[in-house]
Amino acid sequence: MADTTEKNTATPDDTIFGKIIRGEIKTEFLYKDDKCVAFKDINPVAPIHILIVPIKFITQISEAKEEDEKLLGHLLLVAKKVAEDQKLDKGYRLVINNGKEGQQSVYHLHIHLIGGKQLSWPPC
Ligand code: IMP
Repeated sequence: MADTTEKNTATPDDTIFGKIIRGEIKTEFLYKDDKCVAFKDINPVAPIHILIVPIKFITQISEAKEEDEKLLGHLLLVAKKVAEDQKLDKGYRLVINNGKEGQQSVYHLHIHLIGGKQLSWPPC
């Protein structure tokens, strides 16, 4: 029989990242404060691939509100700090995928921090 555990416990305002934030899935945080966490992507696309995730549940950047302005700025500054901690002094990329055509797969807003090698452009 198919495993429906995730289906049965997930709520419309929850994702795997909610479980990580609440400590229900054991994850090493590379950064944590009262507004966000950062942890390694489980399926890295580069030597360094870290996700910066707000504790506040916002499904995607297109759903962010005026009131989230400070939080969004904070996430960028945390991404910068984590990049410095990772010694990405030669450069890196920050990415937010949004919606179906943006290839978003987890509907809890997050910033990808990608680096540790020469990246290419365009990404598609
Ligand atoms: P998105 O496609 O922009 O939504 O990015 C979601 C990212 O979350 C993908 O790069 C996944 O590899 C990553 N991911 C999914 N589940 C986990 C997990 O349990 N731990 C860490 N990263 C995850």
